Amino acid sequence: MKQKKFILQESELPTQWYNIQADMVNKPLPPLNPATHEPLKAEDLFPIFAEECCRQELDQEHAWIDIPEEVQEKYRFYRSTPLVRAYELEKAIDTPAHIYFKNESTNPLGSHKVNSAIPQCYYCKKQGVTNVTTETGAGQWGAALAYAAKIFGIEAAVYQVKLTMQQKPYRSSIMRTFGASVEGSPSMSTRAGKDILTVDPTHPGSLGTAISEAIELAMSTPNCKYTLGSVLSHVTLHQSIIGLEAEKQMAMTGEYPDIIIGCFGGGSNFGGISFPFMRHNILDGYKTQFIAAEPNSCPKLTRGKFEYDFGDSSGYTPLLPMYTLGHKFKPANIHAGGLRYHGAGTIVSQLLKDKMMSAVDIPQLETFDAGILFARTEGIIPAPESCHAIAATIREAKKCKESGEEKVILFNLSGHGLIDMPSYDQYINGDLRNYTVTDEEIEGFLESVPKI
Ligand SMILES: *Cc1c(COP(=O)(O)O)cnc(C)c1O
Repeated sequence: MKQKKFILQESELPTQWYNIQADMVNKPLPPLNPATHEPLKAEDLFPIFAEECCRQELDQEHAWIDIPEEVQEKYRFYRSTPLVRAYELEKAIDTPAHIYFKNESTNPLGSHKVNSAIPQCYYCKKQGVTNVTTETGAGQWGAALAYAAKIFGIEAAVYQVKLTMQQKPYRSSIMRTFGASVEGSPSMSTRAGKDILTVDPTHPGSLGTAISEAIELAMSTPNCKYTLGSVLSHVTLHQSIIGLEAEKQMAMTGEYPDIIIGCFGGGSNFGGISFPFMRHNILDGYKTQFIAAEPNSCPKLTRGKFEYDFGDSSGYTPLLPMYTLGHKFKPANIHAGGLRYHGAGTIVSQLLKDKMMSAVDIPQLETFDAGILFARTEGIIPAPESCHAIAATIREAKKCKESGEEKVILFNLSGHGLIDMPSYDQYINGDLRNYTVTDEEIEGFLESVPKI
């Protein structure tokens, strides 16, 4: 019998997260105070984030960090997630490769984001915080945070990118169902939003604009912290639960991945699936290949520059060492809202610089081709973001077909697309198109990178 799914019992779930910073040969450079350019300490971040998250952010010492009991208990609501062998997809591509995917779409919120929303809200609650704010692109993070805030008795206020509020209206309904308040960004309710709308009244918003607004609200509301769904190192730490489970599940298959692929917005699901395996490349000389798949219209890994830049469009955040397209970068109106971000997290940026991983950029139509093939073979409609990982997987599987190699490919299915159906409708009706960005445009946006 060919086993299709590999599932861990609740008693087998990981009880610690993996912090790759401790094992990295070249550590990520520190975030800088934008005014003084001094390296920031964890305490410097306390006004913005939960204190424990600030400590985790800069921890380059401890490779293993205990998952608090209360967080483990909430993880058991939906974990483990299945590891699945994609036999039907393999057959459709006629590849000798063995394709596995980790299915992070099985929780009711629909994506991996809840893996970090739960600990972030837990740590806020533990230190007596009553309110949280955040940004959301596609709305997956906002939905996850709204739920996590509710279960820990915290009020949540979410700025959702205006474009995706229109593309995916049900996501704001989900957030409101869990009791969060939701506003489209750029909005007139913050200084940052007003400034952006004054320059460009039709600005569709981006993760960068929504982050600026959420930080401003957090700074001006008593007992309120800001939370972020991607990019930062503590978020990727929480997401390591994906790869740690996958490592145990791959052992059940009797195989080990030659290639690991994740789609890339800020790096949390890619890092989550990759880092526990990359640890064996660093420590044990394994040769697994890691590939991040980004939209070709938002190509920070493949065409950005490694620089200190702001994490938001208004320049409120610390300066982060990252591959960036410039914090003023205005991404095209693609449907993968979660990937419309100008920069990459500091850990991934360092790993890319050190060639521990690589990146590919993929046009929108190829991602939907891949998503439709996956739906029709494996029965799951993937999130437009996840379609990037599937497209990159199909490219690798086709290379195996040409070379005859029986490689083992593992990709992360970061979420389902059931709230993204208008984008599939557009694709099926032939109304979806590719976007590109020219070198001149990128040069122009890169001028917004501060000189330090
Ligand atoms: C947010 C999101 C992403 C992108 O964020 P990362 O931090 O890069 O993982 C990818 N897929 C889905 C389904 C998302 O919701």
